[in-house]
Amino acid sequence: MIKVAINGYGTIGKRVADAVAAQPDMEVVGVSKTKPSAEAYVARQRGYPLYIAEMSKRQAFEDAGLEIAGDVTDMIKHADVVVDATPGGIGEKNKKLYELYGVKAIWQGGEDHEVAGFSFCSSCNYNEAKNRQFVRVVSCNTTGLCRIIHAMDERYGVGRVRATMVRRGSDPGEIKKGPVDAIVLNPVKVPSHHGPDVQTVLPQIDITTMAMIVPTTFMHMHALQMDLKSDATKEEILAIIEAHPRMGLVRPGTGITSTAELREYAQDLGRPRADLYESAIFADSIGLVGRELFLFQAIHQEADVVVENVDAIRAMMNAVDEAAVSIEMTNRALGFTA
Ligand code: NAD
Repeated sequence: MIKVAINGYGTIGKRVADAVAAQPDMEVVGVSKTKPSAEAYVARQRGYPLYIAEMSKRQAFEDAGLEIAGDVTDMIKHADVVVDATPGGIGEKNKKLYELYGVKAIWQGGEDHEVAGFSFCSSCNYNEAKNRQFVRVVSCNTTGLCRIIHAMDERYGVGRVRATMVRRGSDPGEIKKGPVDAIVLNPVKVPSHHGPDVQTVLPQIDITTMAMIVPTTFMHMHALQMDLKSDATKEEILAIIEAHPRMGLVRPGTGITSTAELREYAQDLGRPRADLYESAIFADSIGLVGRELFLFQAIHQEADVVVENVDAIRAMMNAVDEAAVSIEMTNRALGFTA
């Protein structure tokens, strides 16, 4: 069993913990919090040993009735791999600790590529992650872009890519972020950072991106256009997406034309926390003008990177040789298949 610690049990960390616990070849040896919270109570209820970032906060946890197993240093001593899901910028500061104890670590998209020196997306570069000590799983938006661009590049070759990201204002549980009533250009300047971030995984791709933030909490929406280098048909593209383990088609027969209906669908499917791990590509939006491909895809920001973390663990431990096998194991353990 691969022993996994989750440093930072928040939006991403709590999902990664549950996804790891569901795998047949992994176990959660601990999760960490900075202060007592509802999430800390859930960690206890799930049976995850709870560690704290600063021992000075021990009393606050004990006053809240939360038993502490030790501090983060104690936690990582039990781990083969640490998934660092602390807020962007904090993870980088933890690197010294992981180096000191010689433990493998995975950072999230809020950290720069340079922190790990290698950026990961399961269906693009699983083999290159093998045996690495440090890996960064790219952000939710970058993961969604990499999945579809790589699938099209493998089949047709991809030239120029242009994408506009319409991003959620905050995660559902966040009460201090917005906007409440605005469309915020973020950034105003073109390009946004998403294109260069895709190139950390797919350096050969010519991509330029723009982004804005809107008052919604569930999912980002991408308007995506790319030039294919060979002839394609809509039927072929639908078949590629349908066969992909991390992309799903939103079929016209469902009547779904929005992120709100996608959330309802995920809830009705019985997905934990309404999580959609796969990119949701609107079948009817797929259009070809000559060799120029257009589509809309919705990306569940809290979920798509979770399954990628699980595959990254297997690759770094060299536990499963083929990407497709790890992806299938991960998906199956979470109850979804292509
Ligand atoms: P979050 O704020 O929801 O959770 C972070 C957790 O880390 C919190 O529980 C916090 O208590 C804990 N923490 C803070 N400082 C710590 C420390 N020094 N030691 C241990 N724990 C500490 O953040 P999040 O949204 O889960 O984001 C985590 C990472 O994932 C970031 O890099 C972010 O960019 C990336 N990411 C977030 C999303 C998203 O939509 N939320 C999507 C993809 C990637």
